[in-house]
Amino acid sequence: MGFENEHIVMLPYMAQGHLIPFLALAKQIQQRTNFTITIASTPLNIQSLQSTIATSSNNTTIHLAELPFCSTDHGLPPNTETTENLPLNKMINLFVASLSLETPARRLISGIIEKEGRPPLCIISDVFFGWANDVADSLGTVNVSFDTSGAYGTAAYISIWLNLPHRSTHEDFFTLPGFPERCRFDISQLHPFLRAADGTDSWSRFFQPQISLSAKSFGWLCNTVEEIEPFGLDILRNYLRLPVWSIGPLIPREALKNSSTLDVSVSRQRAGKKLSFPAEKCLEWLDSHGSDSVIYISFGSQNTISETQMRELAIGLEESGRSFIWVIRPPVGFDLKGEFRAEWLPQGFEERMNKSKQGLLVHNWAPQLEILSHKSTRVFVSHCGWNSVVESLSQGVPIVGWPMAAEQAYNSKMLEEEMGVSVELTRGVQSKIVWEEVKGVIDLVMDESGKGGEMRKNAAVIKEKIRASIRDDDEEKGSSVKAMDDFVAVLLSKRQESSKSSNS
Ligand code: UDP
Repeated sequence: MGFENEHIVMLPYMAQGHLIPFLALAKQIQQRTNFTITIASTPLNIQSLQSTIATSSNNTTIHLAELPFCSTDHGLPPNTETTENLPLNKMINLFVASLSLETPARRLISGIIEKEGRPPLCIISDVFFGWANDVADSLGTVNVSFDTSGAYGTAAYISIWLNLPHRSTHEDFFTLPGFPERCRFDISQLHPFLRAADGTDSWSRFFQPQISLSAKSFGWLCNTVEEIEPFGLDILRNYLRLPVWSIGPLIPREALKNSSTLDVSVSRQRAGKKLSFPAEKCLEWLDSHGSDSVIYISFGSQNTISETQMRELAIGLEESGRSFIWVIRPPVGFDLKGEFRAEWLPQGFEERMNKSKQGLLVHNWAPQLEILSHKSTRVFVSHCGWNSVVESLSQGVPIVGWPMAAEQAYNSKMLEEEMGVSVELTRGVQSKIVWEEVKGVIDLVMDESGKGGEMRKNAAVIKEKIRASIRDDDEEKGSSVKAMDDFVAVLLSKRQESSKSSNS
């Protein structure tokens, strides 16, 4: 299209699961428009984005800007600038600290206005940064909230925070304003912080105003696909009464081609991570296993399970006799990046798995998208973080849910009840899970003639819908491509309106 003079400023929340889709969004907008894009965050996040962009083979010209930040002012350990490795009881401190980014963000945008003679076309801010609306208003631009989660999960999350419906029931379940009666939610689907929230606690005092402000943005961008979440998008649109553009999936285009396994360099480019286990080894290991035979287990970038759960999961996997790759970290209560101790697993487990080639334990970080795109991968045991969900479905891989935090339990519910691509094993780090249940669910999902086969067929249909949404040729444009074009067109016409009114 070519609108070289326009500028967009992006303000992601400081967590891997937000930074990765923000960067992907920036690249996607830039590829379609040639706009200048500046992503602004705290210094350590900017350094990590810098190394990600530097290792990227694509020639992007995304600008990065540091927003000064002092973690110790907010009761955080020094140099804490992301949720990675942050103890659960300190998560709220990082949210509160993020409010202090308003002043430097305002200063950054004022500087851009001074230099370019007009405000940026828009700010795209994280849903947790409702304050960006005030910044946009006062500086003559608009704020668009970017929702890095799915529509259903977000709608549930917003409705629960703003209505706290569990406060007014004595039952174990509740219905949710905005959701039909049939979608009953269970108290156990609420994270302990949310369960305890009463509107006066520090979590409510952060989330309620920030989400309410974001719900008054100019519009929302959502990392989902119109055809895979019609129900969730209906609820979200009814709730917000704002334009919601579904522009997902924000994953590398190489992963959406109909070819075989991806190159491991894609993971490195995305996350700028050092892979602690030679990534090529994972793929070699998968190559040596049969098609659709391997279970992949991972709980995202910041979660782990309890020691007891870890042991039961290990026994269940071993007893199932199925092959698996497990991204494993120290259990709850230990340093996630610390040394892994064999005593956390059944005696001799890792050696036995290595010797028999039944299982591969990858410590800390694995090339997830490459594993999911490999023909040997059959099912994903996941915490249902939205990036993991989209990555899995884009490869037609069904899911066994083990949601942990944030909106993951609602994602898990939607995957099971609306999409029919998942079955939930358990919830959270406190649940009691025994190895027989693990084996039972594995048997169920690996059974092609029963529920497992059904889930796989449904996942294959979703995969095709995801791929169709990014079609961009003379014959047809997919829904996500159209949504992105519409988003840009709406902003440009808003710009024209504003210039007309300031000239008259
Ligand atoms: N990821 C990865 N390797 C790992 C763990 C995670 O590549 O060993 C990536 C995964 O592919 C996804 C992101 O990290 O893109 C995790 O995001 P998600 O929303 O699933 O969960 P979160 O980490 O935010 O809880």
